[in-house]
Amino acid sequence: MRSRQGIRKRNETMGTKEEQIAQIQGMKKKHNAVILAHYYQNAEVQQVADFLGDSLDLSQKAADNDADVVVFCGVKFMAETAKILSPQKTVLLPREDAGCLMADMIDADDIRALKEEHPDATVVGYVNTTAEVKALCDYCCTSANAVKLVRAIPGNKILFLPDRNLGQYIAAQVPEKTFVFAEGFCPTHHFIEPEDVRQAREEIPDGEILAHPECRPEVLSLVDFVGSTSQILKRARESSSLRIVVCTEQGILYKLQKDSPNKEFIMLSPKLVCPNMKKITLDDVHRSLSRMEPQIDVEDSIRVKALTALERMLQNV
Ligand code: SF4
Repeated sequence: MRSRQGIRKRNETMGTKEEQIAQIQGMKKKHNAVILAHYYQNAEVQQVADFLGDSLDLSQKAADNDADVVVFCGVKFMAETAKILSPQKTVLLPREDAGCLMADMIDADDIRALKEEHPDATVVGYVNTTAEVKALCDYCCTSANAVKLVRAIPGNKILFLPDRNLGQYIAAQVPEKTFVFAEGFCPTHHFIEPEDVRQAREEIPDGEILAHPECRPEVLSLVDFVGSTSQILKRARESSSLRIVVCTEQGILYKLQKDSPNKEFIMLSPKLVCPNMKKITLDDVHRSLSRMEPQIDVEDSIRVKALTALERMLQNV
């Protein structure tokens, strides 16, 4: 009973979508806040964002703006990254339970054990890791700069974590180094099958198939282009093909369609949805700004160590 009344009252307070958006704009101004949203977010959230981007774009934006408050519409490791880069800012994650299943596949004890086993390796952590894990990495990277960054590392042996698929993709581009991989993966991308690609090829013979390197190597070997979210967006804009088959999280459709309204975008599979990326709604953004919570904090001893790995990532853009 209490919750039903609560929901009704909240909706009355927030009003219509248009009123809600106007109130969000007003609160943003009042608190000198900025809304950053990942391309995988719900379209209604992307619509109110000041900046849209992939992990790398948003890390840069988080570090480089004059706002006092960052409302991070993504998943927890992204909001933590914003806090590590800008500790003086209030960082809000509108849904505290928006985690990343891949990031949760490795913890500090796992990485300590791997480091003990491979003491001669340089540890490169995908940005999709907790702050505690980042603090134990030599370098962080995103899918957008991983190949460039790994190539530039002086050491010859790389311990890459947590995403085995991305690690294998990088290893194929950097054959001069040896690699050790952790066993993590992104469930949204990992469960795409080569058969899904073959079927799309048959049904859409004129389509260009673009995929994210979090997919398995046997899937990537069948597509036309492999790239990070921002690289997929660029490729779709520049492609001469009018039908684009997309093999990454479904939220990217909003920006793809906005950039190229004359093209048709087709999801390779209905499996390409990350439930955590879909948790934040416009209501959550509104509530978060009006209550200034949930706030993300990173303990200082962890933050300082994680910052070194993140700064090395940003130097290799
Ligand atoms: S799409 Fe995959 S890597 Fe990205 S937040 Fe979801 S589970 Fe994590």
